[in-house]
Amino acid sequence: MNILIFGPNGSGKGTQGDLIKQKYNLAHIESGAIFREHIGGGTELGKKAKAYIDRGDLVPDDITIPMVLDTLKNKGENGWLLDGFPRNMVQAEKLWDALQKENMRLDYVVEILLPRETAKNRIMGRRLCKANNNHPNNIFIDPIKPAGDKCRVCGAEISTRSDDQDETAISKRHDIYYDTVDGTLAAAGYFKKLATSGKTKYIELNGEGSIDSIKETLLAKLG
Ligand code: AMP
Repeated sequence: MNILIFGPNGSGKGTQGDLIKQKYNLAHIESGAIFREHIGGGTELGKKAKAYIDRGDLVPDDITIPMVLDTLKNKGENGWLLDGFPRNMVQAEKLWDALQKENMRLDYVVEILLPRETAKNRIMGRRLCKANNNHPNNIFIDPIKPAGDKCRVCGAEISTRSDDQDETAISKRHDIYYDTVDGTLAAAGYFKKLATSGKTKYIELNGEGSIDSIKETLLAKLG
């Protein structure tokens, strides 16, 4: 099972992605997390990517595209959940070309819809678990509020991402996401069109509901 997930930063994409990943035992390929690993490990790629990420800009395609496509080919016996990529039309086209070339199916494309203002507020409340990248914590969302100043899942230390607290950077990231001409919504539209000719299945979810109601809808639609 190979699945692609779209949603603006702050839409709960990580949480819903986790559910999909567990249901099908998929490798979670998250472009932002791969960049953060590189930055943490002090690699050359990490050094190149850091300034773009801190500003809220996209890392250039010549760095991002090969990094993600290599990971796709080498990961996931049961398939993968791709998250954070593609974010523009070039990435969408390169991804589809690579899938065709590798004879890989794209079973589902999931899009979480959320108004821009709501997404911004949610980002500012997000906290990262230092022990596990997949433990969601958010001081503004009751069901996933941290336990005091610790991760609500495992009790580890939590921190904020520097780019989560910077309104200019958030706004830039959302400019890219909500751009229907060449941004991430354009990339989503590319796959939506492929779905109309039966090449993949496209699932749209309303991101304003509670985490549990979105989960239920998602599981029902995945069948
Ligand atoms: P995320 O964790 O998905 O919010 O990604 C964090 C940052 O990594 C983004 O703001 C970008 O700077 C960079 N990044 C992640 N995915 C991509 C991508 N597909 N193309 C370019 N830059 C990316």
